[in-house]
This record gives sequence, C-alpha cells and structure tokens, in this order.
Amino acid sequence: MSISRLARSIVESPTLALNEEARLLKEKGEPVVHLGIGEPKNKAPIAAILSSASKLTSGDVKYSPSDGTPSLKKAIIRYTEENYDRVVAPENVIVSAGAKQSIFNILFSIINPQDEVIILAPYWVSYPEIVKMVYGIPVIVTPEDGSFIPRMEDIERSISSYTKAIIVNSPNNPSGAVYPKELIAEIVQLCERKKIYYISDDIYHRLVFDGIQAPPAYRFSDKDNESSMIIVVNGVSKLYGMTGFRIGWVIANRKIVEVMNNVQAQTASCVSIVLQAAAEGALTGMQGVVESLRLTIENNRNVIMQELNSFNGVKVIKPNGTFYCLPDFRAYSNNSVELSNFLLRKALVVTVPGREFGMEGHLRLSYSGSIKDITTAIERIKWALDPKSPNEIYLGDRKVVRDWL
Ligand code: PMP
Repeated sequence: MSISRLARSIVESPTLALNEEARLLKEKGEPVVHLGIGEPKNKAPIAAILSSASKLTSGDVKYSPSDGTPSLKKAIIRYTEENYDRVVAPENVIVSAGAKQSIFNILFSIINPQDEVIILAPYWVSYPEIVKMVYGIPVIVTPEDGSFIPRMEDIERSISSYTKAIIVNSPNNPSGAVYPKELIAEIVQLCERKKIYYISDDIYHRLVFDGIQAPPAYRFSDKDNESSMIIVVNGVSKLYGMTGFRIGWVIANRKIVEVMNNVQAQTASCVSIVLQAAAEGALTGMQGVVESLRLTIENNRNVIMQELNSFNGVKVIKPNGTFYCLPDFRAYSNNSVELSNFLLRKALVVTVPGREFGMEGHLRLSYSGSIKDITTAIERIKWALDPKSPNEIYLGDRKVVRDWL
C-alpha cells in the first residue's frame, strides 16, 4: 500500500495506545484509574447547552460563514476585550474546530517548506507533528537546568534565518508552569524585532493558582493589531469543560485571518453552527463556571502535590496552572514509556510518558479528575514502585501482593 512520506513521518501517539489498552481493561471490569486524560469532569455550562439546543430544535442548521458566525465572533471580541484588554475587529477573528485545528491552520498559512518553528520543551505533543505536517521543521528548546522555564539565551541561540514562529504555551501543558512575565515580555520583543510570529496558545490562560496570572502577550507589545506578530489561540475546551464541542479560535492580523479563512473554506467549509452556538452561550453566560472549575482544580493540585511530596525519590515542581504536573521519576526509571506501561499493567493507573512531551524520565499526571482518583492512583503508584511502601494493596476489591521488588 502506498502511503505518503509525510503521512508516514507523523508518529502514532503512545497516549492513544495506552488509552486504548486502558479502555479494554476497563471493559473487562478492571478498576482502572485515569490520570492521563486532559479534560475537566464538569458538565458543559447550562448557557452553552441551552444555546446549542435552541439552534438544533429550530431545525435551521446550515452552513455558517467559514470564519465563524457573526454572533460568536462578537462574543469572542468581547472576551478578548475583557480578558486581554485588547480591542480587535471581526476581521481579526476566525473560529475553527478546536484550538488544535486553529494551530494547524495558522501553521499551514505561515510556514514554507523548511521554515523553522521554535517549540519550548516540555511541549504539547501535537506541536512538532503539526509543524511537520506543513513541511516545517520543529526546533526544540529544552531548559538545561531541569526546570520547566526556558532560558532566553537558549531561545535566541535557536533562531536562524529560517525561523518563522515560536509557540508559547503558558500555562503549560504538560508541566503546569506559568512563565514569568519578564520572559514573555522578552520573547515578544525578540519576535517583533526579528519579525517572527509569536503564537500564544492560551487554552489554559485562566486556569492559574496561588494568585498568579498568565499575562497576555499583547501587554508587552506597542504594535497595533495589523502590525503585531502576536497570534493568539484560545477555545472553550478546557476553561468551560467543553472538549467535545470542538470550538477554538484565533486572533491575528487581517492578512493572516484572510488566508486562514481561505484554507478553512477549502477544507472544513465551516464549523457546525450548533457547536458555535454552544461556545457563544458559554462565553456570554455566567462566568462563575470558570472560577468554580479553577477553585476545584487548585484544590486538586494541592492534594496531588501533598501525595507526590511524600513519594520517595520522586521530584516534582509545583504547577501554577492547568490540570497537569510533570514529576521526575528517574529514580525509578529512565524510560517513561516502559514505566507508564508498567503502571497501567501492574497498578491499573493511566499516566502519560514524558517522552511524548520532550521530557524523558518524567510522567505527566492529570489532576482534572476526582480527589479519590488522585489519592487512589498515587497510592497505587507508590505501591508499585517504592519498596518501602506496604506490599499489599486492594485494586478495587481484589487484594494484590507485590512480588517484583
Ligand atoms: N493546546 C494545548 C496546549 C492543549 O493541551 C490542547 C488540548 N489538549 C489544545 C491546544 C487543543 O484544544 P482543543 O480541544 O480546543 O482542540
């Protein structure tokens, strides 16, 4: 069978393989606990449900303009003004099927073959793959000091005449780190000086803890919307618990939005208006839902930190945002894929190997589930790895004895 060289170069996600194995185990009745999934448990806001239900029951479900319905774009403009202190025009906004597609459309619109895109490790798994899909070259910058905050000199050193963009994701998936505002300011200024696009993936921007804020990149630029190198990506998946509605958007200069609109019109046509109505409901409805999610997740973060801090050998940097942390398990294994597999088979806990995020030896743990999931999962991981932990445990109602340490 003939498969394109490009398509063949896109790696299968080990996460999906692990999730599939977990699903099969669950189907067999095994008490699997999931720390792998990156989505909050809360239901979609009622305003989102009512707004999409009313669109659906009207029966008038047709194409929308390919860049989004005017009313959702209006809600996004208001959101941008309120949360970013930035006034943008409808021509600066385009809606896509999730932030993931937004990022694909941006990169498709700005990257020529062999152009380079700087990605800061640890990074979201999809960035390098999407860059490759548009014939670009991912250039990974990894902090040398074991922290999750990139160093400016490393970023500057990675720039070449081919550098077209840098992707900044703070609060960061997978580490939960929120980059200091001085760093954001320096990267923005560097990008504007060198005419490099600053792609700000803000999908977790209000999911921050301890009174810390993730400052919008715009704050550090004096350029207007049309001359700015800043491209903002956002969506309703994470903050509103609406991962299945698949609505994301981009704020950029008109020229880029126009090109992205052509790309979208020729591929997806548009995003379903039923789902756009849901996003509009979420953005214009009661915003207390975001704060209530944030408080729940901050509490979960505190619980998982307490559990991990008492875990022999495991080093963890306290996350200031998102619902992930990325503890260092190198005291137990340098191979995160093997470790993750081992934990699923022996302890029935789903984790995501750090190798996928450019941080081998680490595991990404999601604390978006219940407190019970978190405490049970960490207790099981301790049991599986730490010889000092009791060697008997209950997995569901089955007593299991550890016989490998
Ligand atoms: N960016 C980051 C950093 C993410 O973690 C995710 C989802 N896991 C996305 C983008 C994509 O979000 P969406 O569901 O809107 O496609």
